[in-house]
Amino acid sequence: MESKPRIVILGAGYAGMMTTKKLMKKLGKEEAEIVLVNKHNYHYQTTWLHEVAAGTINQNQARIMISDVISPNRVRLIYDTVKEIIPDESRVVLENSELTYDYLVVSLGFETNTFGIKGMDEYAFFIEDFESSRLIREHIEYQFAKFKYDPNPDVTSLAILVGGGGFTGIEFVGELVEKVPQLCRKYDIDRGQVKIIAVEAAPTVLPGFDTDLVNYARKSLQERGAEIREATKIQECTEEGFIVGDDNELIKAGTIVWTGGVTGNSLLAKSGFELTKGKVTVNQDLRAPGFENIFILGDCAWVMNKETGRPYPPTGQAAMQHAATCANNIHALLHHEPLEEFIFHDKGTVASLGITDGMGTILSGTKLYGKTAAAMKKVVDDRYLFLLGGPKLFLKKGKIRPF
Ligand code: FAD
Ligand code: NAD
Repeated sequence: MESKPRIVILGAGYAGMMTTKKLMKKLGKEEAEIVLVNKHNYHYQTTWLHEVAAGTINQNQARIMISDVISPNRVRLIYDTVKEIIPDESRVVLENSELTYDYLVVSLGFETNTFGIKGMDEYAFFIEDFESSRLIREHIEYQFAKFKYDPNPDVTSLAILVGGGGFTGIEFVGELVEKVPQLCRKYDIDRGQVKIIAVEAAPTVLPGFDTDLVNYARKSLQERGAEIREATKIQECTEEGFIVGDDNELIKAGTIVWTGGVTGNSLLAKSGFELTKGKVTVNQDLRAPGFENIFILGDCAWVMNKETGRPYPPTGQAAMQHAATCANNIHALLHHEPLEEFIFHDKGTVASLGITDGMGTILSGTKLYGKTAAAMKKVVDDRYLFLLGGPKLFLKKGKIRPF
């Protein structure tokens, strides 16, 4: 009997989960074996990690057991860490075993990029995955508890520094301005003693984004007690804080978080793929150049926008759309049909500024502010849950509580 072709999907993030879901629907059980490999037995919503890091969400709301939404009877689930991909041998090396494949989907997500800034790897926390985010939440609360316990407390230990005012940094600060007052009440600390400082190298935070929306975000965060330092380049990170600007000013803090940029998973380089800024420049059908059977998705892929000549930004929205194209193309390969080109449909960008504030654009550029934007962000988050696990998952983990 001829064996079924094996499709191996590496990484159960936005791209990996949605590709698996779509392949389950598109392919009959007898057509292919589907294998999903992930570091943990849970999937976390990367787009919610700033909330996990600030502690404004129950951490378990931001993760889902993979087997709750993908049946192990239909998909072989392997909880293991990918160590290397050997494309020339169609082989993947895991920490505890090895796998061969007929078709490979690489959706291993991003890694934090420190651009070689001295001390950043040693002294800063990263909002990189579920565990690194949970650590930030614990560290911040520890600083508050220690401050109260210490007979000679240092007020700078309470300060929280956020380096890089892109979307991750700004959304994180939005959570902090809501969390810090709660922690102050819990630990009997005056709110005025706790600094929250965002540092951005560009002339404004959220560089390149709509000016009205940037101004709204800045004002909203400042009014709730955050200090926004723009046009301030971080030169170095030390145990005490960031060294910034041409005059090497030291901004001290007990919690230092770097949100200054991301790049593709370092396994891509280790596995010998040709890279642009740490990502694989994929063909229009999302395959890795030179490999007929390897698709690269999500934050691992450098996908060019043919109209602007620039790459699309790495977002969950894009990762989910990659998944749809990839599943269609694997189906096409199995049926000897032509492959489709990836076309990005921009549905807008909405950022939260805490639980009840936000800003962004939707569809054709309509601007949203305040509670409407915050509600829209929750709708987007919950829509994903619905797509992944239907009404059951939405009711269990959703942000909008219908009852
Ligand atoms: P991920 O979703 O990050 O998944 C990667 C998966 O691979 C993870 O499950 C990980 O555990 C697994 N993995 C990694 N390495 C290994 C290994 N060696 N072995 C096995 N498994 C491994 N985008 C938006 O569109 N809207 C938003 O509102 C938004 N908000 C964001 C907020 C934050 C705080 C951050 C950090 C990002 C946000 N983004 C947002 C961007 C979005 O989260 C990413 O673009 C998206 O998660 C990319 O999906 P992915 O599938 O490529 O990677
Ligand atoms: P980013 O690259 O978008 O932002 C990093 C910021 O750090 C930039 O503004 C940059 O100027 C700044 N920076 C870099 N080096 C610096 C230095 N030395 N000193 C001071 N500032 C410095 O990274 P991100 O915010 O992590 O976002 C990553 C991706 O995820 C983006 O594509 C983003 O659109 C997406 N994302 C989207 C949302 C959303 O849609 N709500 C939320 C979070 C992230």
